[in-house]
Amino acid sequence: MYLGGIEAGGTKFICAVGDKNGNIISKIQVPTTTPDETMPAVYDFFSRYNLTAIGAGSFGPIDVNPFSDTYGSITSTPKAPWRNFQLVEALKTQFHVPVGFNTDVNAAALSEAAFGAAKGLDSCLYITVGTGIGGGAIVRGDVLQGLSHPEMGHILVRKHPKDSYLGKCPYHGDCLEGLAAGPAIEERWGQKGMELSDREEVWEMEGYYIAQALMQYVLILSPKKIILGGGVMKQKQIFPYIHEHFKDLMNHYVDLPELAEDISQYIVSPGLGDEAGIIGSLLLADQALQLTAAEIN
Ligand code: ADP
Ligand code: ZN
Repeated sequence: MYLGGIEAGGTKFICAVGDKNGNIISKIQVPTTTPDETMPAVYDFFSRYNLTAIGAGSFGPIDVNPFSDTYGSITSTPKAPWRNFQLVEALKTQFHVPVGFNTDVNAAALSEAAFGAAKGLDSCLYITVGTGIGGGAIVRGDVLQGLSHPEMGHILVRKHPKDSYLGKCPYHGDCLEGLAAGPAIEERWGQKGMELSDREEVWEMEGYYIAQALMQYVLILSPKKIILGGGVMKQKQIFPYIHEHFKDLMNHYVDLPELAEDISQYIVSPGLGDEAGIIGSLLLADQALQLTAAEIN
């Protein structure tokens, strides 16, 4: 008996079969085109296994309110064919098993807290810096959720004194995502992030923006560990800039070693590497299974 996990991303769906300990026995990738094309490939893969539950960590925004009529759907995505697509309902109709559903970053935060860089901690923050910027927080062992899921990428930041770029967010222009996600880096500097590795000014500016965001998250949530994933964070040279700007901005206001001399152990890369999201989706499946079992008993 296995669990199914889906890391539903804007460019690809990663599907895995595994267990609640994060072991994966099989995995495929399906391009994110339209639900009519993508979902049958997902169904075909999962139908080869006897699954007890499925979890999906999805790009968003998504409806995570279990009392909402549209719970389990992808909501206002710019990817038109997926707008209002009822992912949870589609999976339940196909497989008749419990389905867990949350954001891709909440899934990654769960797995990093269970097995990765925040193992053993009841609190952490997982931030992705990729095509967009998003964050998931674990508070007292579970994901933080209120009216909906957090949207940490769209906070406002101070402009870098040398930055004349106007920003790329279709909603806010120069919010954090508009200034610091991969597409903003590419438009500002005229080349993809991957090709800018040796340009110090690029990563100093990137570090300045990310550090401001992290300061605000720390002041509001006080997580025990911050994990930075996503394609842009593969540029490891950003970390020292983030650490230095973060310390400067905080200016010892919260006077803890984690936020000063031990900062490189506090703001870190994912312990599970690129697998944080998919392993987190298996944990969402397990949560759904536990919830259903509790309801039956
Ligand atoms: P997604 O956000 O779609 O899940 P990624 O996390 O890989 O996927 O983010 C893609 C974005 O990150 C693109 O804008 C890309 O240019 C940028 N990116 C991917 N890999 C790297 C890298 N090694 N260095 C810098 N930027 C990268
Ligand atoms: Zn925005």
